[in-house]
Amino acid sequence: MSEKKFAIIGDPISHSLSPTMHNYWFKKYKINAQYELLHIKEKEIINVIDNIKKKKITGINVTLPYKKLVIPFLSKTINDARETHSVNTIMMNENNELVGENTDVFGFQAAYLKLLSKNEKVNKKALILGAGGVAPSIILALLKSNISNISVSNRTYEKSLFLQQKFKGINLIKWEKYPEVLYKFDILINATSLGLVSSEDPKLKIKNVKKDMIFIDTIYNPQQTKLIKLFKSHNIKTFNGLSMLIYQGQKSFYLWNKINPEVDDELLELLDSKINK
Ligand code: NDP
Repeated sequence: MSEKKFAIIGDPISHSLSPTMHNYWFKKYKINAQYELLHIKEKEIINVIDNIKKKKITGINVTLPYKKLVIPFLSKTINDARETHSVNTIMMNENNELVGENTDVFGFQAAYLKLLSKNEKVNKKALILGAGGVAPSIILALLKSNISNISVSNRTYEKSLFLQQKFKGINLIKWEKYPEVLYKFDILINATSLGLVSSEDPKLKIKNVKKDMIFIDTIYNPQQTKLIKLFKSHNIKTFNGLSMLIYQGQKSFYLWNKINPEVDDELLELLDSKINK
Protein backbone atom coordinates (compact mmCIF):
# COMPACT_ATOMS: atom_id res chain seq x y z
CA MET A 1 0.00 0.00 0.00
CA SER A 2 1.29 3.49 -0.79
CA GLU A 3 2.46 5.80 1.98
CA LYS A 4 -0.29 7.85 3.67
CA LYS A 5 0.32 11.54 4.24
CA PHE A 6 -0.63 13.57 7.30
CA ALA A 7 0.31 17.16 8.14
CA ILE A 8 -0.13 20.07 10.51
CA ILE A 9 -0.98 23.48 9.07
CA GLY A 10 -0.26 26.77 10.81
CA ASP A 11 1.67 30.04 10.78
CA PRO A 12 4.08 30.07 12.64
CA ILE A 13 4.64 26.34 12.69
CA SER A 14 8.35 25.62 13.10
CA HIS A 15 7.93 25.15 16.90
CA SER A 16 5.53 22.22 16.41
CA LEU A 17 6.51 18.80 17.71
CA SER A 18 3.48 17.09 16.18
CA PRO A 19 5.54 15.55 13.31
CA THR A 20 8.02 14.08 15.80
CA MET A 21 5.21 12.56 17.86
CA HIS A 22 3.06 11.17 15.04
CA ASN A 23 6.03 9.83 13.04
CA TYR A 24 7.22 8.07 16.22
CA TRP A 25 3.82 6.41 16.58
CA PHE A 26 3.62 5.51 12.86
CA LYS A 27 6.94 3.69 13.21
CA LYS A 28 5.96 2.03 16.47
CA TYR A 29 2.67 0.70 15.07
CA LYS A 30 4.20 -0.14 11.65
CA ILE A 31 1.89 2.19 9.73
CA ASN A 32 3.23 3.27 6.34
CA ALA A 33 2.69 7.00 6.76
CA GLN A 34 4.52 10.30 6.99
CA TYR A 35 3.48 13.42 8.94
CA GLU A 36 4.89 16.79 7.96
CA LEU A 37 4.80 20.51 8.79
CA LEU A 38 2.96 22.73 6.32
CA HIS A 39 3.73 26.39 6.89
CA ILE A 40 0.91 27.99 4.93
CA LYS A 41 -0.72 31.37 4.49
CA GLU A 42 -4.49 31.72 4.82
CA LYS A 43 -5.11 31.71 1.07
CA GLU A 44 -3.40 28.30 0.80
CA ILE A 45 -5.89 26.53 3.12
CA ILE A 46 -8.03 25.73 0.07
CA ASN A 47 -5.13 23.82 -1.57
CA VAL A 48 -4.67 21.64 1.50
CA ILE A 49 -8.41 20.95 1.65
CA ASP A 50 -8.37 19.96 -2.05
CA ASN A 51 -5.56 17.51 -1.35
CA ILE A 52 -7.60 15.83 1.39
CA LYS A 53 -10.60 15.59 -0.93
CA LYS A 54 -8.36 14.05 -3.61
CA LYS A 55 -7.07 11.64 -0.94
CA LYS A 56 -3.50 12.88 -1.36
CA ILE A 57 -3.57 13.72 2.36
CA THR A 58 -5.37 11.48 4.88
CA GLY A 59 -5.55 13.76 7.90
CA ILE A 60 -4.68 17.27 9.01
CA ASN A 61 -4.00 18.92 12.34
CA VAL A 62 -4.66 22.64 12.52
CA THR A 63 -2.84 25.09 14.73
CA LEU A 64 -2.75 28.84 15.18
CA PRO A 65 -4.20 30.95 13.62
CA TYR A 66 -6.46 28.69 11.53
CA LYS A 67 -8.62 26.70 13.98
CA LYS A 68 -11.72 28.75 13.21
CA LEU A 69 -10.77 29.80 9.69
CA VAL A 70 -10.80 26.21 8.36
CA ILE A 71 -14.45 25.64 9.31
CA PRO A 72 -16.08 27.13 6.16
CA PHE A 73 -14.07 24.64 4.06
CA LEU A 74 -15.50 21.60 5.87
CA SER A 75 -18.70 19.58 5.33
CA LYS A 76 -19.36 19.66 9.07
CA THR A 77 -17.91 19.94 12.56
CA ILE A 78 -18.68 17.32 15.20
CA ASN A 79 -18.69 16.93 19.00
CA ASP A 80 -16.27 19.32 20.78
CA ALA A 81 -15.48 21.11 17.50
CA ARG A 82 -19.13 21.99 17.08
CA GLU A 83 -19.38 23.26 20.64
CA THR A 84 -16.18 25.30 20.55
CA HIS A 85 -16.19 26.38 16.92
CA SER A 86 -12.53 25.42 16.91
CA VAL A 87 -11.09 22.60 14.78
CA ASN A 88 -7.69 21.00 15.24
CA THR A 89 -8.25 17.65 13.49
CA ILE A 90 -9.63 17.07 9.99
CA MET A 91 -10.46 13.78 8.28
CA MET A 92 -12.79 12.25 5.68
CA ASN A 93 -15.58 10.09 7.08
CA GLU A 94 -17.06 6.93 5.54
CA ASN A 95 -19.54 9.08 3.57
CA ASN A 96 -16.71 11.05 1.98
CA GLU A 97 -17.56 14.13 4.02
CA LEU A 98 -14.79 16.39 5.27
CA VAL A 99 -15.19 16.43 9.04
CA GLY A 100 -13.63 18.77 11.64
CA GLU A 101 -13.14 17.55 15.21
CA ASN A 102 -11.46 19.11 18.24
CA THR A 103 -9.04 17.10 20.38
CA ASP A 104 -7.68 20.08 22.37
CA VAL A 105 -10.56 19.78 24.85
CA PHE A 106 -9.63 16.17 25.60
CA GLY A 107 -5.93 17.12 25.59
CA PHE A 108 -6.36 19.84 28.19
CA GLN A 109 -8.55 17.65 30.41
CA ALA A 110 -6.34 14.60 30.21
CA ALA A 111 -3.14 16.58 30.73
CA TYR A 112 -4.02 18.76 33.70
CA LEU A 113 -7.55 18.54 34.99
CA LYS A 114 -7.47 14.81 35.70
CA LEU A 115 -4.56 15.55 38.04
CA LEU A 116 -6.77 17.65 40.27
CA SER A 117 -8.82 15.43 42.51
CA LYS A 118 -12.59 15.97 42.56
CA ASN A 119 -12.39 17.75 45.86
CA GLU A 120 -9.70 20.09 44.69
CA LYS A 121 -11.87 21.23 41.79
CA VAL A 122 -14.84 22.30 43.89
CA ASN A 123 -15.25 26.10 43.83
CA LYS A 124 -12.00 26.63 41.95
CA LYS A 125 -11.67 29.90 40.09
CA ALA A 126 -9.86 29.82 36.76
CA LEU A 127 -8.45 32.72 34.75
CA ILE A 128 -7.59 32.22 31.08
CA LEU A 129 -5.27 34.70 29.38
CA GLY A 130 -6.14 34.85 25.67
CA ALA A 131 -9.28 34.53 23.57
CA GLY A 132 -7.88 32.99 20.39
CA GLY A 133 -8.54 29.64 18.75
CA VAL A 134 -7.69 27.50 21.77
CA ALA A 135 -9.58 29.51 24.42
CA PRO A 136 -13.03 27.91 23.78
CA SER A 137 -11.44 24.46 24.10
CA ILE A 138 -9.96 25.32 27.47
CA ILE A 139 -13.28 26.74 28.67
CA LEU A 140 -15.14 23.60 27.56
CA ALA A 141 -12.52 21.38 29.22
CA LEU A 142 -12.89 23.32 32.49
CA LEU A 143 -16.69 23.12 32.32
CA LYS A 144 -16.58 19.37 31.61
CA SER A 145 -14.39 19.05 34.71
CA ASN A 146 -16.93 20.95 36.82
CA ILE A 147 -14.88 24.14 37.06
CA SER A 148 -17.49 26.73 36.17
CA ASN A 149 -16.08 29.90 37.75
CA ILE A 150 -14.14 31.05 34.69
CA SER A 151 -12.72 34.47 33.78
CA VAL A 152 -11.00 35.46 30.55
CA SER A 153 -8.64 38.36 29.89
CA ASN A 154 -7.55 39.17 26.36
CA ARG A 155 -5.20 41.88 25.06
CA THR A 156 -7.91 42.99 22.62
CA TYR A 157 -11.02 43.10 24.81
CA GLU A 158 -13.49 43.15 21.90
CA LYS A 159 -12.13 39.83 20.65
CA SER A 160 -13.12 38.15 23.91
CA LEU A 161 -16.80 39.15 23.75
CA PHE A 162 -17.77 36.11 21.62
CA LEU A 163 -16.75 33.81 24.48
CA GLN A 164 -19.35 35.38 26.73
CA GLN A 165 -22.00 34.74 24.08
CA LYS A 166 -20.87 31.16 23.53
CA PHE A 167 -20.49 30.19 27.19
CA LYS A 168 -22.94 31.79 29.58
CA GLY A 169 -21.50 33.01 32.87
CA ILE A 170 -17.95 33.71 31.67
CA ASN A 171 -16.49 36.81 33.28
CA LEU A 172 -14.34 39.15 31.16
CA ILE A 173 -11.50 41.18 32.65
CA LYS A 174 -9.69 44.04 30.90
CA TRP A 175 -6.07 43.13 30.02
CA GLU A 176 -4.63 46.03 32.04
CA LYS A 177 -6.58 44.89 35.11
CA TYR A 178 -5.82 41.18 35.37
CA PRO A 179 -2.49 41.50 37.27
CA GLU A 180 -4.37 43.32 40.05
CA VAL A 181 -6.93 40.53 40.52
CA LEU A 182 -4.63 37.53 40.11
CA TYR A 183 -4.83 36.85 43.85
CA LYS A 184 -8.45 35.71 43.44
CA PHE A 185 -7.63 32.73 41.21
CA ASP A 186 -6.70 29.10 41.84
CA ILE A 187 -5.78 28.21 38.26
CA LEU A 188 -4.14 30.58 35.78
CA ILE A 189 -3.80 29.49 32.15
CA ASN A 190 -1.75 31.24 29.50
CA ALA A 191 -3.61 30.61 26.24
CA THR A 192 -1.93 33.45 24.35
CA SER A 193 0.95 33.03 21.95
CA LEU A 194 2.96 35.38 24.16
CA GLY A 195 6.13 33.47 25.00
CA LEU A 196 6.17 31.30 21.88
CA VAL A 197 9.09 33.48 20.82
CA SER A 198 11.31 33.10 23.86
CA SER A 199 12.55 36.70 23.79
CA GLU A 200 9.03 38.14 24.30
CA ASP A 201 8.59 39.80 27.65
CA PRO A 202 5.21 39.33 29.42
CA LYS A 203 5.73 42.55 31.46
CA LEU A 204 3.89 40.99 34.40
CA LYS A 205 4.84 41.83 37.97
CA ILE A 206 3.36 39.45 40.51
CA LYS A 207 2.23 41.31 43.58
CA ASN A 208 -0.03 38.84 45.25
CA VAL A 209 -1.07 35.32 44.27
CA LYS A 210 -2.42 32.37 46.25
CA LYS A 211 0.40 30.11 47.45
CA ASP A 212 -1.33 27.05 46.02
CA MET A 213 -2.27 28.62 42.69
CA ILE A 214 -1.48 26.47 39.65
CA PHE A 215 -0.06 28.03 36.49
CA ILE A 216 -0.50 26.24 33.16
CA ASP A 217 1.23 27.60 30.06
CA THR A 218 -0.22 26.05 26.89
CA ILE A 219 3.14 26.73 25.20
CA TYR A 220 5.55 23.76 25.18
CA ASN A 221 8.36 25.11 23.04
CA PRO A 222 10.33 26.75 24.64
CA GLN A 223 9.99 24.38 27.58
CA GLN A 224 10.07 27.24 30.08
CA THR A 225 8.46 30.47 28.97
CA LYS A 226 9.24 33.67 30.82
CA LEU A 227 5.88 33.32 32.58
CA ILE A 228 6.77 29.81 33.79
CA LYS A 229 10.11 31.08 35.07
CA LEU A 230 8.42 34.02 36.78
CA PHE A 231 5.83 31.87 38.59
CA LYS A 232 8.43 29.24 39.48
CA SER A 233 10.52 31.94 41.11
CA HIS A 234 7.50 32.64 43.34
CA ASN A 235 7.26 28.91 44.21
CA ILE A 236 4.05 28.48 42.23
CA LYS A 237 3.37 25.03 40.75
CA THR A 238 3.71 25.27 36.96
CA PHE A 239 2.96 23.06 33.96
CA ASN A 240 3.92 23.66 30.35
CA GLY A 241 1.89 22.68 27.27
CA LEU A 242 3.69 19.42 26.47
CA SER A 243 1.16 17.10 28.13
CA MET A 244 -1.68 18.85 26.31
CA LEU A 245 0.16 18.43 23.02
CA ILE A 246 0.65 14.73 23.67
CA TYR A 247 -2.95 13.99 24.66
CA GLN A 248 -4.55 16.00 21.87
CA GLY A 249 -2.19 14.20 19.49
CA GLN A 250 -3.12 10.83 20.96
CA LYS A 251 -6.79 11.45 20.22
CA SER A 252 -6.09 12.73 16.68
CA PHE A 253 -4.00 9.62 16.02
CA TYR A 254 -6.88 7.46 17.23
CA LEU A 255 -9.40 9.27 15.02
CA TRP A 256 -7.24 8.71 11.93
CA ASN A 257 -5.87 5.23 12.59
CA LYS A 258 -8.27 3.64 15.13
CA ILE A 259 -5.28 2.83 17.35
CA ASN A 260 -4.90 4.47 20.76
CA PRO A 261 -1.13 5.09 20.79
CA GLU A 262 0.88 4.62 23.95
CA VAL A 263 2.65 7.57 25.61
CA ASP A 264 5.86 5.74 26.50
CA ASP A 265 9.19 6.89 27.95
CA GLU A 266 10.93 6.73 24.58
CA LEU A 267 8.42 9.22 23.13
CA LEU A 268 8.79 11.54 26.13
CA GLU A 269 12.59 11.45 25.82
CA LEU A 270 12.39 12.07 22.07
CA LEU A 271 10.10 15.10 22.51
CA ASP A 272 12.23 16.42 25.35
CA SER A 273 15.34 16.26 23.15
CA LYS A 274 13.65 18.48 20.54
CA ILE A 275 12.45 21.24 22.85
CA ASN A 276 14.30 24.52 23.23
CA LYS A 277 15.49 24.64 26.83
P1 NDP B 1 -4.52 32.46 18.15
O1 NDP B 1 -3.56 33.01 17.16
O2 NDP B 1 -5.87 32.07 17.71
O3 NDP B 1 -4.69 33.52 19.35
C1 NDP B 1 -3.58 34.16 19.90
C2 NDP B 1 -3.94 34.77 21.25
O4 NDP B 1 -2.75 35.31 21.82
C3 NDP B 1 -4.94 35.93 21.17
O5 NDP B 1 -5.72 35.91 22.33
C4 NDP B 1 -4.02 37.15 21.15
O6 NDP B 1 -4.63 38.32 21.64
C5 NDP B 1 -2.94 36.69 22.10
N1 NDP B 1 -1.65 37.36 21.94
C6 NDP B 1 -0.79 37.26 20.89
N2 NDP B 1 0.32 38.01 21.10
C7 NDP B 1 0.15 38.60 22.33
C8 NDP B 1 0.94 39.49 23.10
N3 NDP B 1 2.13 39.92 22.65
N4 NDP B 1 0.45 39.88 24.30
C9 NDP B 1 -0.74 39.44 24.75
N5 NDP B 1 -1.55 38.60 24.06
C10 NDP B 1 -1.10 38.18 22.85
O7 NDP B 1 -3.76 31.23 18.85
P2 NDP B 1 -4.37 29.92 19.55
O8 NDP B 1 -5.47 30.33 20.45
O9 NDP B 1 -4.61 28.86 18.54
O10 NDP B 1 -3.11 29.45 20.42
C11 NDP B 1 -2.74 30.18 21.57
C12 NDP B 1 -1.57 29.49 22.26
O11 NDP B 1 -1.96 28.20 22.71
C13 NDP B 1 -0.36 29.32 21.36
O12 NDP B 1 0.78 29.68 22.08
C14 NDP B 1 -0.34 27.83 21.07
O13 NDP B 1 0.98 27.37 20.90
C15 NDP B 1 -0.97 27.25 22.34
N6 NDP B 1 -1.59 25.94 22.11
C16 NDP B 1 -1.02 24.83 22.67
C17 NDP B 1 -1.57 23.60 22.49
C18 NDP B 1 -0.92 22.40 23.08
O14 NDP B 1 -1.26 21.28 22.69
N7 NDP B 1 -0.03 22.57 24.05
C19 NDP B 1 -2.79 23.40 21.69
C20 NDP B 1 -3.32 24.63 21.16
C21 NDP B 1 -2.73 25.86 21.36
P3 NDP B 1 -5.36 39.37 20.62
O15 NDP B 1 -6.78 38.88 20.47
O16 NDP B 1 -5.28 40.66 21.35
O17 NDP B 1 -4.59 39.37 19.36
